[in-house]
Amino acid sequence: MCNLREHTAMSSISPRDAEWRQELRDAMPAKERTAIPRAKMAMLDPEYRIHCNEEVNQGLSADQAHVEASRCLDCPDPQCVTGCPVNIDIPGFIKNIQRGDMAMAAAVLRNTSALPAVCGRVCPQERQCESKCIYNKMKKEPVAIGWLERFAADTERELAERPAPERLAPKGIKVAVAGSGPCSLSFAGDMAKRGYDVTVYEALHEIGGVLKYGIPEFRLPNSVVDAELDSLRDLGVKFIADTIVGKTLSYDDLMNEGYKAIFVASGAGLPRFMGIPGENFINILSSNEYLTRINLMHAGTPGFATPVPRGANVAVIGGGNTAMDSVRTALRMGAKKAMLVYRRSEEEMPARREEVLHAKEEGVEFMTLSNPVEYLADEKGHVRAMRVQRMELGEPDASGRRSPVPIEGAIDEIPVDVVIVSVGVSPNPLIPNSFNGLEVTKRGTIAVDEQLHASIPTIFAGGDIVRGGATVILAMGDGRHAAASMDEYLQSISE
Ligand code: FAD
Ligand code: SF4
Repeated sequence: MCNLREHTAMSSISPRDAEWRQELRDAMPAKERTAIPRAKMAMLDPEYRIHCNEEVNQGLSADQAHVEASRCLDCPDPQCVTGCPVNIDIPGFIKNIQRGDMAMAAAVLRNTSALPAVCGRVCPQERQCESKCIYNKMKKEPVAIGWLERFAADTERELAERPAPERLAPKGIKVAVAGSGPCSLSFAGDMAKRGYDVTVYEALHEIGGVLKYGIPEFRLPNSVVDAELDSLRDLGVKFIADTIVGKTLSYDDLMNEGYKAIFVASGAGLPRFMGIPGENFINILSSNEYLTRINLMHAGTPGFATPVPRGANVAVIGGGNTAMDSVRTALRMGAKKAMLVYRRSEEEMPARREEVLHAKEEGVEFMTLSNPVEYLADEKGHVRAMRVQRMELGEPDASGRRSPVPIEGAIDEIPVDVVIVSVGVSPNPLIPNSFNGLEVTKRGTIAVDEQLHASIPTIFAGGDIVRGGATVILAMGDGRHAAASMDEYLQSISE
């Protein structure tokens, strides 16, 4: 597996930067900075937001961002940077916000992150950069790095004069990309800037991968993703939807069209089920299907005919971000009771802390230490109840989390009309099965070397199809790493 830390170099501070940054440090003593409380972001009221799809987090105001940026101590050895999977120069962008140079703040971010407005919204900052901020050691709330990232990226979008990205002269070399999620988008941007002729093929009718079909509007508005897509189009990247690589277009078709290499970033979109009795009853579906119907096919929006199961009692099985997105979506689709059924305790939930809090504010019922063991149906085959095994925590398992152990005889029957299963995903096997000679791992992910080079010389791969399900920032980091590797490979074969 590639090492992103080795791949992304930390930016060094120029003497000029050092000068103004010292001035900022001198202007306010550290004691004064650390006395400033962390900013509070404005949020939509829960009563209002569960009836609409508007973005819950409203962003920081310019004044709030300035004050929050001044909390940052500009540490000489900033540990926050080591907590970021792609080592963004965090104090560098924050100090530019403090001095009001928003174009430079965004430029520092874009040095390492292709999608800062997206990452500022969806990265698990509390487990990454913010968990390493020196304020934690002082028993104070960390600098709101993620909110400041979002602020810098959003403000840059509104700047009248955005600096055009530098692009090398066209090389006349065509490369193809399979999939259009964050991994592909960061790859495509880097390759276009290097002068390659990039075409992205997407199986679905919309470009954006999970950013569009998975993560709901109330967490990541489509307009934010669309703005990033427009920037890529400005760089010359071509997007072709409704095209399944490996089916609509075979490997040979792509080679015959003159592509010199292919980047596969087809994600891990194959839902898993639990394999328990009754899981095939009507109105039991995967999170992927549920969210895709609503987010991409507009189920529930007036004027659209896409069907989606609705009910008064909706149970979502799982404890990750996908489960949290599904259960909050179910509330917005009119569920009277939206339950999150998770076999461990809240402490072990992989979902972002913020999503857990928002779900609770919105009235989601958390049924932790509970695991469905069977579904029951009415005479027409519609699910009507689930039998839930109550659990307790035992010894830690391989993941380091305490494993759930059934409490003998503790099984309850709970009425449900709709069940959304969100217990994980697997890599889509279509490309591995259709590209002859493409090696896969035991988990079904595409096997790659340190350079993200696959077993077929013309193929590179990254993101969830290699990692088997990860995060936006890791997928994006892979895209950048693969672009550097493919560029090197294409130069080596043209010499
Ligand atoms: P994807 O985003 O999955 O994109 C792959 C694309 O390839 C898809 O559009 C797919 O249709 C397309 N494709 C597949 N096969 C083919 C083919 N044969 N030909 C052409 N196209 C093809 N991560 C976070 O960091 N924070 C979060 O808050 C978060 N929330 C999430 C919520 C949900 C509901 C889900 C599902 C995931 C979430 N994640 C989150 C995880 C994150 O979104 C993924 O790790 C990331 O999107 C992976 O990026 P990717 O580009 O590898 O794949
Ligand atoms: Fe600023 Fe915290 Fe990073 Fe120090 S650790 S540079 S205070 S964000």
